[in-house]
Amino acid sequence: PVDRTAEIQEARLKLPILAEEQVIMEAIRENMFVILCGETGSGKTTQLPQFLYEAGYASGDSIIGITEPRRVAAVTMSQRVCKEMNLSDRIVSYQIRYEGNVTKDTKIKFMTDGVLLKEIQKDFLLMKYKVIIIDEAHERSVYTDILIGLLSRIVPLRNKKGLPMKLIVMSATLRIEDFTQNTRLFPITPPDIKVDSRQFPVTVHFNKRTPLDDYTGEAYRKISKIHRMLPAGGILVFLTGQAEVNSLCRRLRKAFPFRPHCKAPAEGEEDTVGDVKKFKKAKQKKTLTMPRIDLDNYSTLPVDEGDEDREAGIDDEEEQLGSDLDLDLGEEEEEGAGEGDKSDPSLPLYVLPLYSLLAPEKQAKVFRPPPPGTRLCVVATNVAETSLTIPGIKYVVDSGRVKRRFYDRVTGVSSFRVTWTSQASADQRAGRAGRTEPGHCYRLYSSAVFGDFEKFSPAEITRRPVDDLVLQMKDLNIDKVINFPFPTPPSSEALMAAEELLLSLGALEEPPKHGRLKELERAKLSCPITPLGRAMAAFPVAPRYAKMLALGKQQACLPYVITLVSAMTVREIFQELDRPAVSDEEKDKLTGKRARVVQMKRIWAGQGGALGLGDLMVMLGAVGACEYAGCTPKFCEDNGLRYKAMVEIRRLRGQLTTAVNAVCSEAGLFVDPKMKPPMDSQVTFLRQIALAGLGDHLARRVQPEEVLDPKWRNAYKTPLLDDPVFIHPSSVLFKKLPDFVVYQEVMETTKMYMKGVSAVEPEWVP
Ligand code: ADP
Ligand code: MG
Repeated sequence: PVDRTAEIQEARLKLPILAEEQVIMEAIRENMFVILCGETGSGKTTQLPQFLYEAGYASGDSIIGITEPRRVAAVTMSQRVCKEMNLSDRIVSYQIRYEGNVTKDTKIKFMTDGVLLKEIQKDFLLMKYKVIIIDEAHERSVYTDILIGLLSRIVPLRNKKGLPMKLIVMSATLRIEDFTQNTRLFPITPPDIKVDSRQFPVTVHFNKRTPLDDYTGEAYRKISKIHRMLPAGGILVFLTGQAEVNSLCRRLRKAFPFRPHCKAPAEGEEDTVGDVKKFKKAKQKKTLTMPRIDLDNYSTLPVDEGDEDREAGIDDEEEQLGSDLDLDLGEEEEEGAGEGDKSDPSLPLYVLPLYSLLAPEKQAKVFRPPPPGTRLCVVATNVAETSLTIPGIKYVVDSGRVKRRFYDRVTGVSSFRVTWTSQASADQRAGRAGRTEPGHCYRLYSSAVFGDFEKFSPAEITRRPVDDLVLQMKDLNIDKVINFPFPTPPSSEALMAAEELLLSLGALEEPPKHGRLKELERAKLSCPITPLGRAMAAFPVAPRYAKMLALGKQQACLPYVITLVSAMTVREIFQELDRPAVSDEEKDKLTGKRARVVQMKRIWAGQGGALGLGDLMVMLGAVGACEYAGCTPKFCEDNGLRYKAMVEIRRLRGQLTTAVNAVCSEAGLFVDPKMKPPMDSQVTFLRQIALAGLGDHLARRVQPEEVLDPKWRNAYKTPLLDDPVFIHPSSVLFKKLPDFVVYQEVMETTKMYMKGVSAVEPEWVP
C-alpha cells in the first residue's frame, strides 16, 4: 500500500493516465510486450512505475527498471516518483554513469539506457527485473534501440524458462510503426495503448520571414514583446545549445532585471604558475634508440571473473558531446525575493536556463513556482521537448533549430551543425504551451519553411559510427551483427566500417584470408571477438581508447594512460576564449586569459621527448597540475580550463581505475592526485600507445617540395580524405609540423582541422 499525501493524490487524479490504469495493467498482464503512447505530461513516466509497484511487480526479490536516454530525466524522475510515493530514495532510486543511490532495498530503479546495457553484459537474462520500461523510445537514442532489440529476445526467453518478465515501451509521439510493424523485432504485433491527453488548444503563429542567422536575437525580441504585451503565463524558449541559452539568459536578465545587483570586482588574481611548475617536466635528454612497446602484451580478463567490479558505464555521451563549451563559469546569478523590486517599474522576468549539463539543483528550479509578481521564462535546449514537463507554460518560442553532431560515414569526420528540427519535434515543442490552459506558440520561421522540415528526426543509430556498439554486441556473442533485430538498422557501410576498425585494433578475429571467401566473410560481418576485444569491451570508453587502456600495463604506464583516456574522452578541456567580447573590460580579460593559456600549454607540453606527445602531453600536464592544486574552480578559471571538464575527468579516472583493476588484478592501481610527470621512456611508450589506438588516424606531412597547390602548404595527407587536413592553431604542434602525426579527430570548421595531435616517429609507421 502506498501512502501518498493528499496534495499529491489530488495532482495525480488530474493526470489522464489515471483513467487508463485498468486497461494498461490488463494489457501488461496478458502480454509480454506493450507499447504505451501519450502526450508529454500525461503521466507515463511518473505513474506507470507506481501502477506496476502497486500491482506487485516489485514483490519478493524483483525490481522494476526504467531506462531514460538522458541523465537529467533519470535523476529528476526518480526524485519525483520517490516524493509522490512518499518512500525513501533507498526504495525509489537511480543509477547514471558515475553516480546513483541504488541500495539492496531498491524496488524502482531509474537508469540511463547505457547502464542497463552494461547490466545485460553481466546477466543476460536480467534476473532481478520482473519488468523493464523503456522510456522516451521516440527519441530513438542508440542504446534505447539496442535495448529494445535485445529485450525482444530476452523477454520470451525468460518466459520460456517460467520466469515471467514484461517489456513496456513508452513513447511520446505516435510514430511507433518502427516498433509495431517490425516483425523481426516483434513477430506478433504488441498492443499499443494510447493515453488521451487533456491538451488545451495551442495557437501556432508563424513568422512572416525567417531570420537566417540571428534567431537568438529574434527570440529576444519575441520574448520582450510577449512579456510587455500579453497576459500572465510562463514562457518557454527552445534554442540549440548551452552557450546560446546562457547568453540569452544574460541578455534577458539585463533587460528585465529581476533584482538589480552588481558583482564585486574580481579579486587580484593569484599567481598559480608556481604550482604548475611543480608538475613541469624535467629537462629532456635526447634518447637515441627508441624503446618499442609490445603490441601483443595486453591485459586480459581473468577467466570467469572480473565482471563484478566493472562499473556500468556507457553513457548518454551524446548529451555531453552535444553540449557547448561552458561559458557559465563564475557567472552565477543570485535569485531570491529582492528588495530592489520597487525601483523597477516593469514586471520582472524570472529567467532560468535549462540544459543537460546544468547542475541538478539549478535544474530543479524550473519545477518550482516563480516568485510572486514575476513571470517565469525558461530558456532551454531540447531537453524540455519531451522528457521534462515544466508547469505553468503558456507561451512557447521556438527557434525551430536543433544542434546535431554530423559524421561523415566514410571518414568519420565530425562537425556540429545547427539544423532545422523535424515537424514532429516542432509540434512537440508547441504542445508544451497547452498543458494547463490554452496557449500560444511563436515559431521564429515561416510556414513555408516548416513545410520543408523532415517529418520525423532520424534515429540516431543511422547517423553515427557504431564501432562501440558492434564491440558491445560481439561481447554479448552476437557475432552476426547484421542479423540483429534493430528497430532501424544502421547502414551496412557503417557496420562494415565498425568491423574494419575493430579488426585493425585486434578486437576481432581476422576472417580466413583466402581471396573471395574473405570478402564473403567480411560481408557477413560475423568475426568473433578476441580476448583482447573482451578486455576492451570491459572498459566504458570507445574501442580506440579501450585498446590504449589494454596496452597500458607495460612500463608502468597505466596511470598515465588512464588519465590520458579520461581527458581525451571529455570534450574540450579548455574554456572557449575566442568568443566576441560584449564590453571592453571583457575584451581585456579575454586577451589576458588567452595569453595565459598559451603560456600554460607551453609549460604543460614540456620539451624534447615530451613535446612529441603533443596535445596529449598538454592534457596530461593540465590534469596533473589541476589535481595537484586540488582541482578548484579558481585554478581552472585562472588557467583557462573548464572546471566541469576537470571534474568529469576526475570521476572518469576513478571509474577507469576501478575497471582496469578488475581486468588486470595485479595492477593494484589508485588515483594519485600527486601523480609525477612521466619519465622520458614512458613518454615514448605513451606515444606508441596513442599510435596503437589511433592508428587509423595517421597523417603525413606534405613535404614543401610536393606542394603544387598553395592550399596544401603546411597540410597533411590522410589515407581517407582527398582534401588536406591541418594541425589546429590551438595545438602545441601547430608550428612544429612533425612529418607524421596521429590525431584524435578531424573537425571541419573553416578548414579540416586535426585536434588532439601527437607526433609519430617515422620508424614506427607501419
Ligand atoms: P509523461 O512521462 O507522460 O511526459 P510525466 O509522468 O513526466 O508525464 O509527468 C506527469 C505530470 O507530473 C506533469 O504534467 C507534471 O505536472 C508533473 N511532474 C512531473 N515531474 C514533476 C516535478 N519534478 N515536479 C512537479 N511536478 C512534476
Ligand atoms: Mg515521460
